[in-house]
Amino acid sequence: MESWAGALRGALHRGADVADLVARLSSGDHHWYAATHARPTFCNVCREPLGALGTAHALACELCKFKAHKRCASRAPPSCKWSTLASLGPHVVEDAEGNIIMPHQWLEGNLPVAAKCDVCDKTCGSVLRLQDFRCVWCRRCVHAACKPTWRASCSLGPARASVVPPTRLHSVGPDDAWVPDRPPNASPLIVFVNSRSGDNQGVKFLRRFKQLLNPAQVFELSGAGPRLGLRLFRHFAPLRVLVCSGDGSVGWVLQEVDKLDMHRQVQTAVLPLGTGNDLARVLGWGASCDDAANLQVLIERYERASTKMLDRWSIMTFERALTAPPPPPVPPDLLEEDSLLRNLQDIMQAGEVSSIASTSLRAGCSRLAAVGERAGGGAARAAHRLRRAVSLLLHARAHLAHDHARCKSWEPVETTSDSEPEAQLVAEKGSIEKTEKEQLNWAVRGCALAGRADSVRRALRSLLRTLTQVYPQVCS
Ligand SMILES: [Zn+2]
Ligand SMILES: [Zn+2]
Ligand SMILES: [Zn+2]
Ligand SMILES: [Zn+2]
Repeated sequence: MESWAGALRGALHRGADVADLVARLSSGDHHWYAATHARPTFCNVCREPLGALGTAHALACELCKFKAHKRCASRAPPSCKWSTLASLGPHVVEDAEGNIIMPHQWLEGNLPVAAKCDVCDKTCGSVLRLQDFRCVWCRRCVHAACKPTWRASCSLGPARASVVPPTRLHSVGPDDAWVPDRPPNASPLIVFVNSRSGDNQGVKFLRRFKQLLNPAQVFELSGAGPRLGLRLFRHFAPLRVLVCSGDGSVGWVLQEVDKLDMHRQVQTAVLPLGTGNDLARVLGWGASCDDAANLQVLIERYERASTKMLDRWSIMTFERALTAPPPPPVPPDLLEEDSLLRNLQDIMQAGEVSSIASTSLRAGCSRLAAVGERAGGGAARAAHRLRRAVSLLLHARAHLAHDHARCKSWEPVETTSDSEPEAQLVAEKGSIEKTEKEQLNWAVRGCALAGRADSVRRALRSLLRTLTQVYPQVCS
């Protein structure tokens, strides 16, 4: 936390000093580091082999890969990778209409293995001497003899949509931002790397991104912070931002984007470095990237990527005295099962509607179901089944009771001797037929009722079984 606060203070302080940064970018000075070389490599100053004196004497520029002996470095021309229009110096080229075009920036010798000339398609470069040329932007190689016939404008290589051509960064406005060309080109990518991330893996990423893009669009996060970079490119829309670090830095960059009111134009991607990359993990980008070799492919992939909106939340925390956790929802008296089953039995056996048994079964089951619904999941589903089964049972019981009452009213009447035999017979016959039919109906419905009662019993058991898992203490 301390180091972040320090970095933030430093960033705010340095943020105003845009002029200093622009002057540094335009100076053409190389950025040396002690380098080792597996294959024969030659000094770009004295043209002698570098290997002869051992690695302790070899330097390479981390931006343009210019090579030099330690003793020769001070005599190296300020020809480092261009970043602004001013840094092109005498190399500015204009077309017939006076438009500035991006020329190739040639670096002599030390070409990759099996390099081919882009003009004559024959092998070029040599392991014996400093020979032939390679453009540090488009990475095309040409023979020294073929160079004059090669086209003058540079394509900026495969990731041209991401690269900000140095010819476009010509002046900084009064608001400390690059004045954009009209019309603006495709959305450039600006990169923030926390060089301390991932066991200092960040240093490699920082170096590699500066080689692949314009050094002016790559920013060291732990030093300058995100504000300077975002402000410089605030007139580029849409602006794609890549953060190479953990969650903390991503949050820092997003916060600055909000503060500068750039959230409508900025699209952010994360390249997770080191640990603490929950955001990248959650979004399916992987936990950590430790290989700086494939960044070229990655940049091209970002150019084709689609965007998704992401909510950012502010979480407010309040301190308060530690209290016991709130009690769990009141567990049911699971022993109620017995009384409910008794109610059920009463309902089945009573010839008349047992309103007391019905009411207490309905009330008891409803109480249990409410507990189940509160517990959620399987208990809630079981509770739903129980409510439905009880409702169907009581409905069926009410119908049956109704039929039973009608049945009784149709019982054969006592016959007397003085009644007319004919009429009596007919009345008796009709009565008997009707009663048999109703009684048959009653039996069928009785069977159905038994089925309903069984459903209630099963639903009750299932709910209680689920609840005993939720409230084991009650049943132990
Ligand atoms: Zn030398
Ligand atoms: Zn350089
Ligand atoms: Zn080129
Ligand atoms: Zn050639």
